[in-house]
Amino acid sequence: MPAPESPLALTRRARRIERVLAETYPDARCELDFDDPFQLLVVTVLSAQTTDKRVNAVRPTLFAAYPDARAMAAADRETLEGIVGPLGFFRAKTESLLKLSAHLVEHHDGQVPGRLEDLVKLPGVGRKTANVVLGNAFDVPGITVDTHFGRLARRFGWTEETDPVKVEHAVGALFPKRDWTMLSHHLIWHGRRRCHAQKPACGACPVARWCPAYGAGPTDPVAAEKLVRTEGRA
Ligand code: SF4
Repeated sequence: MPAPESPLALTRRARRIERVLAETYPDARCELDFDDPFQLLVVTVLSAQTTDKRVNAVRPTLFAAYPDARAMAAADRETLEGIVGPLGFFRAKTESLLKLSAHLVEHHDGQVPGRLEDLVKLPGVGRKTANVVLGNAFDVPGITVDTHFGRLARRFGWTEETDPVKVEHAVGALFPKRDWTMLSHHLIWHGRRRCHAQKPACGACPVARWCPAYGAGPTDPVAAEKLVRTEGRA
């Protein structure tokens, strides 16, 4: 049996993987379009159970009608339901947006707060959404543990935890804080493009040599290449 990996070796291996992912995906970023923190908060809430592409398509109409929290809090429910309709779960999503906007108006003068402890108190906003907003709209480093991030962190052997908050802390300890936001983008891009939940493209993976889960998907380069997606979620 191989000796267990020391904490130092684990950190080195993790950072090597991150460096290679950064080179592989130089365009990695938040795939949701937004112009300001309010827009990012809203589109992140809307992106649950749908694709970023669909949310991006709805965005211009949504923010032309409701450019800020005050306007959205005063929205006519049926009109708002009609706009978010293409995203599915339109009643629940409309309810979330109305509550969220009303809370921002009531407690934050219509502005999105820039602190984790305030963001997680907003209705319908969990730690994942809060970290997306902090990292991308406020430049406050944050680790976004979505389904891709959690799966890859476990495949890489960075943690065995399944609870997102524990994953966040375990992975955060391996990297300097300033790298957290881009690390999140790199893992999510890799998860969307190559390291799929089912059939990861191991034979076409740039970090295969440092990945203990190599072989979870096809290792034949030709078969693996066919599994690579050039875009994120369609
Ligand atoms: S080797 Fe396979 S399991 Fe490991 S990161 Fe690459 S695609 Fe994912």
